[in-house]
Amino acid sequence: MEQNKNQMMVEFDSISKNESFARVVVAAFTARLNPTLEEIADIKTAVSEAVTNSVIHGYEDGTGRIRIYTSISGNWVTVVVKDYGKGIEDIEKAMEPMYTSKPELERSGMGFAFMEAFMDELHVDSAVGRGTVVTMRKRIGQKENGGELRPEGEKENR
Ligand code: ATP
Ligand code: MG
Repeated sequence: MEQNKNQMMVEFDSISKNESFARVVVAAFTARLNPTLEEIADIKTAVSEAVTNSVIHGYEDGTGRIRIYTSISGNWVTVVVKDYGKGIEDIEKAMEPMYTSKPELERSGMGFAFMEAFMDELHVDSAVGRGTVVTMRKRIGQKENGGELRPEGEKENR
C-alpha cells in the first residue's frame, strides 16, 4: 500500500456555532483521500453528532474545550473527538439507540447510532468528571466509486 499518512489537531470552545466549523475542517482534511460526496456527508454527520454531544451533554450549561484529532493512514481516516466535561456513567446504555438523558430537550437519542451507521468503527471511552473520547474510523473508497460525483477539483489528489 502507498505511504499516505497525515495528521491534524484542532481545539475550540464548546459552543454550538463551532459544530459546523468542526465538520467542515475534518471534511476538508479528508478531501485528499478522494472521498465521494456520500462519504464526506457521512463523516460530517458523525463529527457533528460527536461535537454536539460534547457541547450539550459534556459541558451542559458551561463552556469548555473540544479537541479533534484527525489522521489519515492509507485509505482509513480516524477522527477522535475529545471533551473534558462531565463524562458518561454507563457507556453501554448511552450507546443504545433511542437512549437519551435529555428527553426534555427533544433529543432523540440517535447520535451514537448515527456515528455507528455512518462510520466503520466507533469506540467510546469516558470517565465521570473527566470527560469523553469518541474514536471513529472509516475506510474511504470501500464501494466502487465509478460514476459517482466527487467534489470538484479533487480528482488526482492522492
Ligand atoms: P440526539 O443525539 O439524537 O440528539 P442524544 O444526544 O441524547 O440525542 P446520543 O448522541 O446517542 O443521544 O447520546 C446518548 C447519551 O449519551 C446522551 O443523552 C448523554 O447522556 C450521553 N452522552 C453522549 N455524549 C456525551 C458526552 N460527550 N459527555 C457526556 N455525556 C454524553
Ligand atoms: Mg447526541
